[in-house]
Amino acid sequence: MPTRSRASVRKPSTEYLPATDDHPELEIVRSPRRTKTVSGSFTPEGRVRLLVPVQTTDDDIWEYLEHLLPRIIRQKETQDARKRTFVSNDYLVQRAQNLIAQYLPEVELPQEIRWVTNQSTRWGSATPATSRIRLSHLLQGAPEYVIDYVLHHELCHFVYLNHSAAFRGLEARYPRTAEARAFLEGLSFGQQKNASAR
Ligand SMILES: [Zn+2]
Repeated sequence: MPTRSRASVRKPSTEYLPATDDHPELEIVRSPRRTKTVSGSFTPEGRVRLLVPVQTTDDDIWEYLEHLLPRIIRQKETQDARKRTFVSNDYLVQRAQNLIAQYLPEVELPQEIRWVTNQSTRWGSATPATSRIRLSHLLQGAPEYVIDYVLHHELCHFVYLNHSAAFRGLEARYPRTAEARAFLEGLSFGQQKNASAR
């Protein structure tokens, strides 16, 4: 039996298959580290990457794919739908409704709450006179509790325009205020901006 050096056996090999009507572009990685398990997922480029043990045959791979692909595609569709929801204005309105119900019963739901892309020095802004709240799109992708905090902060401005002690008292009803502020400070630092919730 021919012997192969350990080094060459250990190296994973990658094979790319172009997309067809039946499947998206595939990236088959035969990994010597894997013994039994097979896993598949979408890469950021939209390929399906399949990780299989090194000795897997092509027939086996097609059999795996038949089972795995529908699941991976369903998973991605769910994730995409979540992402779309997350960046919608309706999502912000729903979050604000929750916050009002939980912490700010004295505040009426503003007439307009939406994401804006032209606001990069402030995470959020409130205009009680016209009943509007705007959130910077730079917050998209931040944890939900951080978005909730910025919304809560802006909703508090519908009671107090300034950042007085009374305002801070109202703001502190949101339980994760300190944590969210710390997160935003880190985010400002990372984005080299001096953004804050105003
Ligand atoms: Zn403020």
